[in-house]
Amino acid sequence: MSEVSPTVSSYHAPQRKRRPLHLKILIGLVLGASIGLVANVVYTQPVVAGVQDSLDADANGIHDHLDWVAVNIADPVGKVFLRLVFMVVVPLVFAALALGVVGLGDVRRLGRVGGRTLLFTVALSMSAVTIGVVLVNTIKPGGGLKHEQREALRAQYAGGAAALVQKAKQAKSLKDTLLDIIPENPLQEMVGALDGSSKGNGMLAVMFFALIIGVAITLVPQDRTRTLVSLLEGVFDVCMVVIGFAMRIAPYAVACLVFAVTARLGIDILHKLMWFVLTALLGFTIHMLVVYSLTIRFFGGMGPLEFFRKISEAMVTAFGTSSSNATLPTALRVAKDTLRLPREVAHFVLTVGATGNQNGTALYEGVVVLFLAQVFGVDLTIPQQITVVLMSVLAGVGTAGVPGGSLPLIVIVLQSVGVPGEGIGIILGVDRILDMCRTVLNVTGDLAIATCVSRSESRTTEA
Ligand code: ASP
Repeated sequence: MSEVSPTVSSYHAPQRKRRPLHLKILIGLVLGASIGLVANVVYTQPVVAGVQDSLDADANGIHDHLDWVAVNIADPVGKVFLRLVFMVVVPLVFAALALGVVGLGDVRRLGRVGGRTLLFTVALSMSAVTIGVVLVNTIKPGGGLKHEQREALRAQYAGGAAALVQKAKQAKSLKDTLLDIIPENPLQEMVGALDGSSKGNGMLAVMFFALIIGVAITLVPQDRTRTLVSLLEGVFDVCMVVIGFAMRIAPYAVACLVFAVTARLGIDILHKLMWFVLTALLGFTIHMLVVYSLTIRFFGGMGPLEFFRKISEAMVTAFGTSSSNATLPTALRVAKDTLRLPREVAHFVLTVGATGNQNGTALYEGVVVLFLAQVFGVDLTIPQQITVVLMSVLAGVGTAGVPGGSLPLIVIVLQSVGVPGEGIGIILGVDRILDMCRTVLNVTGDLAIATCVSRSESRTTEA
């Protein structure tokens, strides 16, 4: 039949091209941010007398209605997505890492890939903090904050700051921190891995357990471990399907998460802390555009533009969720489908990197500590600044890949160089928005290292 009757054909909806997921998430992000900002302006500023009833506003000047929408609609929708992802993060990390080690085959190859990953992590984190420290020393963002502004900000976020200082006081010694990477009770570590309530080192301890199990599997004859390995593969695949469910609502969830932040935050506070925010953003941009681009070009053998285009879905997910752990499944998928990296190397580097490689966080920690030192008039000597660099690199490794994961560690670094830990209250108001940005850097860094290590591995195996 050559002709289709118009009546019949009209029942077929025109074939619409499906938008790629990262584009949908990006649209959600822009919509959420803009609606949030507009709502903030409308509901927190007395635009027309009578429209704004200041009695309905809370201590932060946020109108009750807006707060209600943020608390009862935006936050829950965002949380549905985050919980769907977080509920499979622990089994996913365990399965991916153990399988990564098994895939690497022997301990020598594991040592080589692990060694290169560590080398890139240290080099990228060092350069990140150095960029941050140089920028703060040049721009001096802490010099411009007036005494009253500083006091007002500190008073407003005093509660949050006190809780963080309390948490920092419970911090363990370096010896115990390192020892706690080896879990006494892996299940207990898994239970508390995401909320920091585990007895030992949480996610790092879970990762150590996965590594050991992976190594042990490679040492047992294959016919005895085949079932165990296919069980792990099954766990991994099932987790990725659950993540697939979550990703379907990702565009809406990201819109809600970003709305909740911008509606409460507005631009007023960004204005007060403008120089601090600009310094951090400039640092992130330099690291992204210069350091990552050069690394990818010279060690990854790929054009930076092509790389950023290919990983854009992971970047927008990181921005929307503020969590490296929540972005891990997307990063794994991107590594497999668009970057086409070898599975075992990608599994290993990305799972280790989601907690252990946080370049954006390291840069941010350096900027915050030096900024607050300037605000409080604490003159940091060169050796003290070097201490800040080294501690920030280490803190980047120890930071949990969850929203605000770096805050307790920032308090520790602050106190170690004689800046009052409570000072963190000054930047808490803008932390979330900068958290979104530094998480993008963290995830990009993981994918950059995975690309570079994959390339060097393929060269070694070819040789
Ligand atoms: N949110 C960051 C991440 O998940 C950690 C932090 O810097 O607070 O990578």
